[in-house]
Amino acid sequence: MPSDYKDYYAILGVPRNATQEEIKRAFKRLAKEWHPDLNPHRRKEAEERFKEIAEAYHVLSDPEKRRMYDLYGRVDVQPAVPSWGDFSAYDPFSELFDIFDSFFGAGTRSSRRERRTERGEDVTVELFVTLEEAYHGAVKDIQVPLLVTCSNCNGTGAERGSMRLCTECGGSGRVTYSQMSFGGFVRSVTSITCPACGGSGKVIDDICKSCGGTGRSKETQTVTVEIPAGIEDGMELRLPGQGNAGRYGGQRGDLYIQIRITPHERFRRRGKDLFTEVTITFPQAALGDMLTIPTLDGSVELVIPPGTQPNEVLRIPHKGMPDLKGRSKGDLYVTVKVDVPKQLTQQQRKLLLELAASMNVRPKGAEKSFFEKLKGAFGQRK
Ligand SMILES: [Zn+2]
Ligand SMILES: [Zn+2]
Repeated sequence: MPSDYKDYYAILGVPRNATQEEIKRAFKRLAKEWHPDLNPHRRKEAEERFKEIAEAYHVLSDPEKRRMYDLYGRVDVQPAVPSWGDFSAYDPFSELFDIFDSFFGAGTRSSRRERRTERGEDVTVELFVTLEEAYHGAVKDIQVPLLVTCSNCNGTGAERGSMRLCTECGGSGRVTYSQMSFGGFVRSVTSITCPACGGSGKVIDDICKSCGGTGRSKETQTVTVEIPAGIEDGMELRLPGQGNAGRYGGQRGDLYIQIRITPHERFRRRGKDLFTEVTITFPQAALGDMLTIPTLDGSVELVIPPGTQPNEVLRIPHKGMPDLKGRSKGDLYVTVKVDVPKQLTQQQRKLLLELAASMNVRPKGAEKSFFEKLKGAFGQRK
């Protein structure tokens, strides 16, 4: 026998010819009896015993490992539970009871899991961006009020150390009744949600004072949002896993950023195209001109063709908004307004009259009595 020989049969308290069923039953009873969380007053001893029990069961429950053990007195195996030296890393609420669940059937386990974790809610916030930011793209830090995992209780809702395994169900979240019926021939088993813990498997003695037992607290967090060039008003950006914290270990919800583009003083937008206005004088419209006008990406030259009419729309290609894929840009449409002067100098008046004469028009406004006639007539300016 090796020097570090451990009598797994003695540890589980079963004979060397025990059946698999007997080994399982012994392990189940002992694991519950010696689980460290159920033995706070003798925790060190319980930890040692529990490790032994788990190791013994790990070997003896596997027919191949058991055969090797019977032959050589030892088996080199991976530990039955991870992190032997650090017991706290071993969560009795999951692994141990997963083993138990395998006795009761998978149904028990899945129903318990569903109850335990709860995904955090999705959160939607509005973000105002300027047209310039939408044109170039931007990275913005925003403040978002969120529910985060309570740091005092780590999301459990219990004051430190006040959470314990439910004694009614032993942490499984289910209570199983078995009874003999039909004169002792049939054993019927009924499994119900544990009424003591509501199926969570845990009982809280003191509710966390920070979060009132909800496991979550309010906190304003800084979130960095990348705004792609070409984004449009009303679009939503999704930031997965940046919403509210989950409950009972559930995953975080998503954060949705609803984009609002603030009105621009110079440009209006429709899809990828931009619209603006420029005001010129009658001689510019009639003779044609070249203007420098601003766009979202520097200035451009705009040609006013001779004979441009009021409200005529000129198109400057590729000076609109970029599309989200970055492949192309829309156009910039410029509506031409023709300004009519409200005040004329003597010379301008003279020139206009000459122009009128050459065009065979005789504006009545040129006559001295015009303003007298104007009184009481339609078309008077308010
Ligand atoms: Zn808390
Ligand atoms: Zn319970």
